[in-house]
Amino acid sequence: MNWITKIIKAGEKIKSAIHKRATKEDIANSDWTSCCKGPILKKDLEENLWVCPDCNKHHRIKPKQRFDIMFGPNNYEIFKTPIPKDDPLEWTDSKPYKERLKSARKKTGLDCGMMVVSGKINNINVTAVASDFDFLGASMAAAEGEAFLYGIQHAIENKTPFLCISAGGGMRMMESLISLSQMTRTTIAINELKKNNLPYLVCITDPTAGGITASYAMLGDIHIAEPGALIAFAGARVIQGTVKEELPEGFQKSEYVEKTGFVDLIVERKDLAEKIGTLLSILLKRNSVINSEKNETSEDSQSLTKAAS
Ligand SMILES: [Zn+2]
Repeated sequence: MNWITKIIKAGEKIKSAIHKRATKEDIANSDWTSCCKGPILKKDLEENLWVCPDCNKHHRIKPKQRFDIMFGPNNYEIFKTPIPKDDPLEWTDSKPYKERLKSARKKTGLDCGMMVVSGKINNINVTAVASDFDFLGASMAAAEGEAFLYGIQHAIENKTPFLCISAGGGMRMMESLISLSQMTRTTIAINELKKNNLPYLVCITDPTAGGITASYAMLGDIHIAEPGALIAFAGARVIQGTVKEELPEGFQKSEYVEKTGFVDLIVERKDLAEKIGTLLSILLKRNSVINSEKNETSEDSQSLTKAAS
């Protein structure tokens, strides 16, 4: 190889290094991420609760980061929830489902995509669940259903309100009907919570879609959403292809969904804990009034029965 070829080869190497696109893994392992103005230090974003100071984009965060913000750093108890048998349908697409589960667990450090905790907001005991988007897109399958039900049961047994911080693309394809049945199971569980007169708040975060929107994310007493979150059932492209019309600007974003009545209020991440605390205080006072009225009525009916006998 003469000196001219050497120079040309070195130049090609530099060129390809410059043009090589960073992979998702490269970004995950680096100190940097990107937003509207290009690269931004993760540390700076973290100081601002993972909200961009320039465009107010609420970046996706993990359940642990959520709960640290909501209850204070490590100021909550994490529950170990039941994990059903992996891969009940022995599913394989481009990769075996078992392998996908294995890498999701390694990536997130979680056994399933949903984390259940108990903590305090405004001195009120709260049971809460949140999903990790890095765990197979926070999709819902049997293990996540078990986690949700565990949370509801804990709320009922301890008479606490239940807070669901929703995220996820929907029900998990690899568990087919077993995943779909989680829509019914979570709905029945929420009904039990309501029978016990316990508040159910949903905080919708980006993205909440598919069967998650069609079940537990839309059954709250109050629906709060973070700004700019995608809230959808079917995807925008599918809808546009079906209705054959141009969709309005901001379609399926929190602000649009609020106007259509599916979201009650949009709250910035920094204000979430305070707002949820206020709402829970009001709801619990109202519920205690209802409960005492119920007790009075049953006492009245008891004395009436006694008098009649
Ligand atoms: Zn930005």
